[in-house]
Amino acid sequence: MNSPMVRSNICINCNPEGCKSNVKKDIECVLSHKNAMQKNATKRTSHHLHNNPKNILVIGASNGYGLASRIVSAFGYDYNTVGLSYERAESEKKQGTPGWYHNRAFEEEAKHLDTWHITIEGDAFSKRAKNDVLKVASEMNVQFDLVIYSIASHQRQDESSNTLYQSCVKPVGTTFDGKTIDVISCQLKDISLSPATQDEINSTIKVMGGEDWKLWMRCLKEASLLSPKGLSIAYSYIGSALTAPIYKDGTIGLAKKDLEASALALNEELKQIHYRTFIACMKGIVTRSSAIIPSLPLYLSALFKVMKEKGCHEGAIEQVMRLFGEKLVGRYEVVTDSSGLIRLDDAELKDDIQKEVECLMQEAIKTGSLEALDVAGYKNAFLATNGF
Ligand code: NAD
Repeated sequence: MNSPMVRSNICINCNPEGCKSNVKKDIECVLSHKNAMQKNATKRTSHHLHNNPKNILVIGASNGYGLASRIVSAFGYDYNTVGLSYERAESEKKQGTPGWYHNRAFEEEAKHLDTWHITIEGDAFSKRAKNDVLKVASEMNVQFDLVIYSIASHQRQDESSNTLYQSCVKPVGTTFDGKTIDVISCQLKDISLSPATQDEINSTIKVMGGEDWKLWMRCLKEASLLSPKGLSIAYSYIGSALTAPIYKDGTIGLAKKDLEASALALNEELKQIHYRTFIACMKGIVTRSSAIIPSLPLYLSALFKVMKEKGCHEGAIEQVMRLFGEKLVGRYEVVTDSSGLIRLDDAELKDDIQKEVECLMQEAIKTGSLEALDVAGYKNAFLATNGF
């Protein structure tokens, strides 16, 4: 096995076999959960996703929450899947990106299913990728019962204005001075981030806000590819006071507010065809995208420690299994909080958990010792996102 090459908390290579075996492990986890549920069928609530063959489109399907969504829907709930992602393919000269190997492993395992699965590699922000999906859906003669929007990207080429927008993770209106963990040396590091400019805020909203989700849903609607009474879900993160300065109150938080507003706007637009759109607030996990958010490694190392001790630690696959199993129940029922958000971040945000996380973080900052935190667990999860 090659060794991981990490620069500024970004892993720039991967272990292809490890990437593939991670997908297989997630599939095994879903299958064993499914078997347990089937044995316990009397206790199970009927599930609208289970009744007929169903079709899902996952936009951002090769890593993190999108990959988990594709695996859970295909292996847990017998969906046909179309998975779109933007990954570099393996070539003679260069390794592919982890998601490319994830896609290959998914396809290999999905061959044994009775359902069909199509992977499209392309830029979700482009008209071409949208047309590719429309073409596939027309050829397969299907409409989508579920559309998951799970894009995390640092940039977006906007074809209508021929502009490249870059997203950034920065505070808004104030400087952020804090600490993070260098994942390789496992040492605390100071970070200081200046407030985002208005241009940086606008660009981040362009990339990570809801505009592209709206474009997708409109073009699927126009092509009559949304099945009546279906759902679309976009993933979000809210976090707590401990992450707010860099997340909720920062550039990404503003983009997520735009995503939430887009869910409301889309609900109005799609009312006629009885299609509904939701935001699912997921818990903080280590993914290729979250690993580069400053200060998150410190927070997640403390969170993992507390949640593992309390027996409620979850990764992407467990979160999405809970989304499908507990939040999409009955024939058309979606379980939300009073603001209409689907909440999977409930355990993370419990007061007792947040208090303990805060104590661990403060103690680590005061003493400079990371021993009380689950830095090893964080580092393993970080390396696993690249197959190491
Ligand atoms: P990830 O980096 O693991 O995966 C991102 C996916 O987006 C990949 O499949 C990638 O190929 C795809 N992608 C990126 N740019 C693309 C493009 N131009 N065209 C097509 N596909 C593209 O990210 P993640 O952490 O799973 O995040 C997914 C969503 O979940 C985001 O909206 C994120 O905010 C949200 N979320 C993440 C966390 C977390 O802690 N990681 C928590 C809550 C919510």
